Parts: sequence; structure tokens; C-alpha cells
Amino acid sequence: MRVLVTGGAGFIGSHLCESLLKQGDEVLCLDNLFSGSKRNIVPFLGNSSFEFIRHDIVQPILLEPDLIYNLACPASPVHYQHNPVKTVKTNVMGTIHMLGMAKRVKARILQASTSEVYGDPQVHPQPESYWGHVNPIGLRSCYDEGKRVAETLMMDYRRQNQVDVRIARIFNTYGPRMERDDGRVVSNLVVQALLGRPLTVYGDGSQTRSFCYVSDLVTGLKKLMARERVEGPVNLGNPEEFTILALAEMVRELTGSRSEIRFQSLPADDPVRRKPDISAAEKLLNWRPEVFLEEGLRQTIAYFDQLLGDECGSE
Ligand code: NAD
Ligand code: UDP
Repeated sequence: MRVLVTGGAGFIGSHLCESLLKQGDEVLCLDNLFSGSKRNIVPFLGNSSFEFIRHDIVQPILLEPDLIYNLACPASPVHYQHNPVKTVKTNVMGTIHMLGMAKRVKARILQASTSEVYGDPQVHPQPESYWGHVNPIGLRSCYDEGKRVAETLMMDYRRQNQVDVRIARIFNTYGPRMERDDGRVVSNLVVQALLGRPLTVYGDGSQTRSFCYVSDLVTGLKKLMARERVEGPVNLGNPEEFTILALAEMVRELTGSRSEIRFQSLPADDPVRRKPDISAAEKLLNWRPEVFLEEGLRQTIAYFDQLLGDECGSE
């Protein structure tokens, strides 16, 4: 299979590229390197089945893949709020370009959607049938509403043009190759703990998230892509729910850090609770996450420990 991964130099994208290469696929990795990094894909550059294309999906491009994973979009609030208009363009114009490609070459396309389509949910846990509770005009809207329009486009291209689409609603995913300064909670806390700096917890830390280790997520994405006849979006995430304060305490314990926990103000529209209902993925894909938070955090800590050590060594 010739597989296009947009956003392939990012955190999830690079793990997906690696897994596809391992199973013998030919991988076209397309990325504008806005929030991704060449460092994530350097190990694959010598592989003749891997090709890197530096391109922005807001601009059209002609390629002939069999499958398209559309992951291109900054995922961290700090990154997607840096240039919100660009975030909307990536989700709308970028997704139209990828859907146009899928239509032209009859490729199956999977859209990386998000739990953010549920906004600050009033239904708990969140099933795919829930329409969400999203602020259309706030600081997070460029991402949340952008991703919602991307889902609309996927469904309309299916109805209007018979494009073979898949929609993965991804819940908080973490692991090695997150950017150390991209502002997401797991990378922030782990890096702070390793550097002996205060652990920043926003609000009182009682808000919850459910954290999925990246290897579980990649398995889920590939299963969803491979499954014939999937009607609508499918939640992919780990249903184990933790408060952010509990996460900070776990990071402190696993790193052996003596950093204090420093409470800071809560960002606008920060969702209070989040936990996926994954019964659709269990039934359709026979998929459920296998990596417990503690084990995934150990792997992530080991990655950042080495990264920070290498950085110190090169100074
Ligand atoms: P990431 O920021 O590490 O990766 C996104 C990649 O897309 C980066 O390499 C970036 O340079 C690239 N990109 C951004 N805009 C682009 C553009 N216009 N053209 C080409 N490339 C572009 O984020 P991630 O965590 O790997 O997320 C990957 C996808 O999964 C994103 O679509 C994100 O919205 C979605 N997602 C992630 C999570 C999560 O918890 N990690 C949760 C829900 C959804
Ligand atoms: N958060 C935190 N400290 C940080 C970064 C984030 O307490 O250093 C909180 C943030 O306010 C949110 C949760 O952790 O409640 C998850 O944040 P993240 O940006 O990782 O993802 P999202 O809010 O998009 O789920």
C-alpha cells in the first residue's frame, strides 16, 4: 500500500509512519513542520519506502496514494491558538484538498478528529451520538469548530461523491516524541519534574482527562482504516479518567522529583470532564487500550530524560 500521512512529522504521525513502514507499506510523509520536527522522522529517512514531502495542506498538491491519514493540524492549545486563522484554514481548506485527492484517486481517507468536538461536555462519558457543547467564538473555537467542519466535509464528500471516509475522534494521547515545549499537560509536567521546576497545574487540578498511550492509539487508527463499512465517527481513547492533580502527583512520584505543585489560572473554556465511551471501537474494531497510565508515563519519562540529557550534553 502507498500511504499518505499528513502531519507525519508530528507526534502521532511519526509513530504511525513507523508502524506502517514496519508492516511493509510505502509511506509518503507530508508536513509543513509547524509543530512537528525533522527529529521525529530522521530514523526513517534512510528507508527506501519512506519519502518526506515538505508541504502545507492549505495549498493543493497532486499525489496518488491508496490510503490517506489526514493528521496535519497543530494539536496543542498553545500551537493552535498561535495563528487561529491558519488553524481554521488547515482544517477546512486542508481537509478539502485531501478529500479532493481521495475523490480523484479513489483512496480511502481517515480524518484525525478530536474529543474537542464534544467541547465542554454535558454528557459523561461521551458517546459518538452526543452532539457536543462547543463555544463557537472562543479561543479554542478555531480548533474545535475547525475539526467539526472537517467532520462535516468528510460526511458530505461521502454522501455527495461516495468518498470512502473514516473519522477517528481521538482523546488525549501522549508518549515519546511530544514536543517538550508544546504546552500539553503530559509533556509539560514530565519536563518540569525532570528539570526540578514547579509542576504547573491549571485551576485547582480537579478537571479530568483520559490519557491514551500513543502505541494503543496507532493500533486503533490502523484498525479503523482497515475496517470495511464504517458509518460514522469512532471514539479512540483510554476510558480511565484522572484528575490533572492526580496526574501531576503520579509524574512526581515516577520521576522521583521533589518539585512543588504550582497552581495557575485555568485557561478559557477548559473542559471540566472528559472520558470516552469506547463501546463502538470495542464492537466494530475489537480494539481497547492496553497500556496503563503508569506504564505509559514510565516510557514517556525515559524518552524526555534522554532528550534532556542529550540537550545538556550538546550545550
Ligand atoms: P502534532 O502537532 O505533533 O502534529 C501535527 C503535525 O501536523 C505537525 O507535524 C505539524 O507540523 C503538521 N501540520 C500542522 N499544520 C499543517 C499544515 N497546514 N500542513 C502540513 N502539515 C501541518 O500533533 P499530534 O498530537 O501528533 O496530533 C496529530 C493529529 O491528531 C492532529 O490532527 C490532532 O488534531 C489530532 N489529535 C491529537 C490528539 C492528541 O492528544 N495528541 C487528540 C485529538 C486529536
Ligand atoms: N494543564 C495543566 N498544566 C499544564 C498544561 C495543561 O494543568 O502545564 C491542564 C489543562 O488546563 C487541561 C488539561 O491539563 O485541563 C489538559 O491540557 P492539554 O493542553 O494537554 O489538553 P486539552 O486541554 O486539549 O485536553
